[in-house]
Amino acid sequence: MTTQTSDVLVLGGGVIGLCCAYYLLEAGRSVTVLEQGTIACGSSHGNCGTLTSSHAMPLAAPGTIGTSLRWLFKADAPLRIRPRLDPALLRWLFGFAGHCNWKDFERATRLKAPLLIRSRELIEELVHKERLDCEFEALGTLNVFRDAANFEHSHALPAALAAVGIRVDVLDAASVLAREPALKPGVVGAFFNPGDAQLRPDRYAAELARVVRAKGGRIEEHTCVAGIARDGARVTKVSTANGDFFGRDVVLALGAWSPRVARQLGLRIPIQPGKGYSITYTRPALCPRIPLTLKEPSVCVTAWDSGYRLGSTMEFAGYDTSLNRARLNALKRGAAEFLHEPEGPAVVEEWYGWRPMTPDDLPMLGRAPGVDNLVLATGHGMLGVTLSAVTGLLTCEVVTGRKPSFDLAPFNAARFI
Ligand SMILES: Cc1cc2nc3c(=O)[nH]c(=O)nc-3n(C[C@H](O)[C@H](O)[C@H](O)COP(=O)(O)OP(=O)(O)OC[C@H]3O[C@@H](n4cnc5c(N)ncnc54)[C@H](O)[C@@H]3O)c2cc1C
Repeated sequence: MTTQTSDVLVLGGGVIGLCCAYYLLEAGRSVTVLEQGTIACGSSHGNCGTLTSSHAMPLAAPGTIGTSLRWLFKADAPLRIRPRLDPALLRWLFGFAGHCNWKDFERATRLKAPLLIRSRELIEELVHKERLDCEFEALGTLNVFRDAANFEHSHALPAALAAVGIRVDVLDAASVLAREPALKPGVVGAFFNPGDAQLRPDRYAAELARVVRAKGGRIEEHTCVAGIARDGARVTKVSTANGDFFGRDVVLALGAWSPRVARQLGLRIPIQPGKGYSITYTRPALCPRIPLTLKEPSVCVTAWDSGYRLGSTMEFAGYDTSLNRARLNALKRGAAEFLHEPEGPAVVEEWYGWRPMTPDDLPMLGRAPGVDNLVLATGHGMLGVTLSAVTGLLTCEVVTGRKPSFDLAPFNAARFI
């Protein structure tokens, strides 16, 4: 049994925890990361790896509740709420429904966009500065439509994103097919997002861990936070089966697991796991060059030199650990509608991950209400990879007492209390 003290304890070794550790080490703090499994074994592992400022719009949108009610009993629907009598889920859904209006939708987009844009820049800087070998490429992304009515219906989107500083180019069918020959004819148009980029997320996390260790950070894998104690307004001790850990400051970066540990401190954090799936293959011969979002089936397609991935779908099913075949098959079916070669020759991995979803689809950042030495870095929903670097920077600014680069008041967990 060990007892360890650092300036900062970071709970959670996903991309968020690792980025927090990186910026804190850069600022001269000693850091220990506690991870229950191996580095990035949670949502940070098999996600689609796109860096998408263009996805600034929140899930909580007018119409989302109606759509999910229509899909309630459709096992392979892109967005699904599995009905259960779970008070935390019901409270969360109630909160979520309250944000499904234009005013909150526009506010969340306006707040998230500058963080996404800054983070995308910071990740590129980080990749070059630390020579992160993670297949980063800045090719933009394409949102592709086959349904003319849906394309028409989405025409307000480029102007809405332009209003928050994100450029979108509208392409007709011929231009889309010329730009991406892996797509089948029948496409009616697309939005091209020139500011977006991609990386291989498991490699990004592994490379971040390499740099954290090289800078003197400790990463304790297979070290599950079992207990967290507070004395008044301060966290005093973090207990694990491998010993007790102490930090002057503690960063909670536990993704979808955050409410479980926060509860021990008397903090009720409304995060639900938003379950998504991916299938990773070896590369098909006719492989897309640019990351794609296939709009009608809501399937993301990302290709790297090292592989090819279909991903996405969103299911509110609690902390469910099963691999649901119907949802994996929906990814393949969606891809087959759009692509000449929807699947690669060999399946490398079938995977699910729990996105840490907040009711307003904004992350929780900054000091925890009522706990002076606890900083929250969680609730990044569908965009945690994209937001990882800015979260690390902001968390470092809070811990070191510098003025945060962005106003953190709208992201404080106090908004839910
Ligand atoms: C299918 C899918 C596709 C996605 N695609 C994209 C994308 O293209 N771009 C994008 O930006 N985002 C994407 N995301 C979202 C992104 O994956 C998440 O927002 C991000 O990974 C969250 O990072 P995190 O570090 O907060 O959480 P996690 O990666 O889940 O990390 C939390 C860590 O905490 C650890 N932990 C939990 N409990 C304990 C404990 N008690 N003690 C110690 N450790 C503990 C877990 O093991 C885990 O490693 C996608 C997600 C999914 C599911």
